[in-house]
Amino acid sequence: MAVKVLRGNCIGCGACVQTCPYDALTLVDGIVEVDPEKCTECGACVAVCPTQALTLEDRKSQNTVERGIERIKEVKGPTQGEAGEYKGVWVFIEHQEGEGAPVSWELLGAGRQLANALEVELCGIILGQGVEKIAQEGVFYGADKVYLVESPVLAQYRSEPYAETIASLVQKYKPEIFLLGATTLGRDLSGRVATLLSTGLTADCTQLSIEKDSRLLLQTRPAFGGNIMATIVCKNYRPQMATVRPRVMPMPQRDPERKGEIIQEKSLVTENEVKTKVVELIREGGSAVYLDKADIIVAGGRGVGSKENFAYLQELADVLGGTLGASRAAVEAGWLPVAHQVGQTGTTVRPKVYFAIGISGAIQHLVGMQTSDVIVAINKDPEAPIFKVATYGIVGDLFTIVPKLTEAFRQKIA
Ligand code: FAD
Repeated sequence: MAVKVLRGNCIGCGACVQTCPYDALTLVDGIVEVDPEKCTECGACVAVCPTQALTLEDRKSQNTVERGIERIKEVKGPTQGEAGEYKGVWVFIEHQEGEGAPVSWELLGAGRQLANALEVELCGIILGQGVEKIAQEGVFYGADKVYLVESPVLAQYRSEPYAETIASLVQKYKPEIFLLGATTLGRDLSGRVATLLSTGLTADCTQLSIEKDSRLLLQTRPAFGGNIMATIVCKNYRPQMATVRPRVMPMPQRDPERKGEIIQEKSLVTENEVKTKVVELIREGGSAVYLDKADIIVAGGRGVGSKENFAYLQELADVLGGTLGASRAAVEAGWLPVAHQVGQTGTTVRPKVYFAIGISGAIQHLVGMQTSDVIVAINKDPEAPIFKVATYGIVGDLFTIVPKLTEAFRQKIA
């Protein structure tokens, strides 16, 4: 058997079962069991087990992980046509209430680099009604051309007409790369477009680059519960599609002098073909949390100890005009709502200052905040991994340090 289960250590939490990419694990009477037919020794389960109940008998983890990545890379299928027919980089320009989504401009910045490396055009594509101004913004942020499709059918976002219109334009113009934001809308749309075009899609990429000789898009993203970074390529399908979360790529400079072409296109989808109707738009109640837009985030983890203790962090956030963030441990403990969670399964943030207070710095947390401009870590454990990414590290008890910091900032700001 590839993976050995130490039954005495297994607490039946199911983390390994959820993580296994090959469905090789099941819980039987609260203890994990491994299907040797399905197990590939990739080691993903071993990495996430919180109680060391799983081990690889012959732990050549490097080889098996590499094999896992190779397997992802080698997924093949029928080609849709010659890859050479496809040229150019496209970015979907998302918008809401008359404004372009910042992630679209970030993607135009990333797309520019890819287009330069391939020596091809960078194009935006925008759907809606009365959105020409936003299309023009796309040019200011780096697009050579923007395809603009305006129609009453596209006035509000709906999956079917958006996906069908985009898929038909992709078939017409044949871009080799198509990028979308990993927002709620982008995640819905990208999967549908990829399915209509029978192409591959890599979600939540954190890095994009071009392999020089093959001209393939290298799509890097966390895999196996965030324990490794996998680089995925789409060899046989076009376009190569990827989504990227907001704030992962830097915001490019807006140049209002930049010139580009706006190309009007038509949607062939008619209203009576669309099954869904937008009846009413209801705004989310309560005070919304915009972690991805915050310049200062004061985040707390399990070390904060209780919901009530978050008052210390709230006070610091109030003095600095910051927003509260949390690790998944703090959210799962019910101390803050999930909208505050930073990390792989929460929000990716890139503030000017990120305070990590009583947070150990697990990889799944780090992938969501490590590109912050300045990171201040407060932890009583000098070996905590958070100190590896911190700009400033303070070793000590947060209940002593946070009130002192709050007071010092209050006096400085007053
Ligand atoms: P701990 O790891 O328990 O760390 C608490 C820290 O507080 C310790 O370093 C301790 O030294 C310090 N401390 C304790 N008391 C004090 C004190 N008085 N003063 C100062 N320091 C103190 N996690 C996320 O955060 N975001 C995610 O999106 C996320 N997604 C995940 C996805 C998957 C698939 C998996 C498997 C896990 C994910 N996790 C995520 C969980 C992650 O692995 C960690 O379990 C989690 O981040 C730990 O949270 P923590 O640092 O608050 O807690």
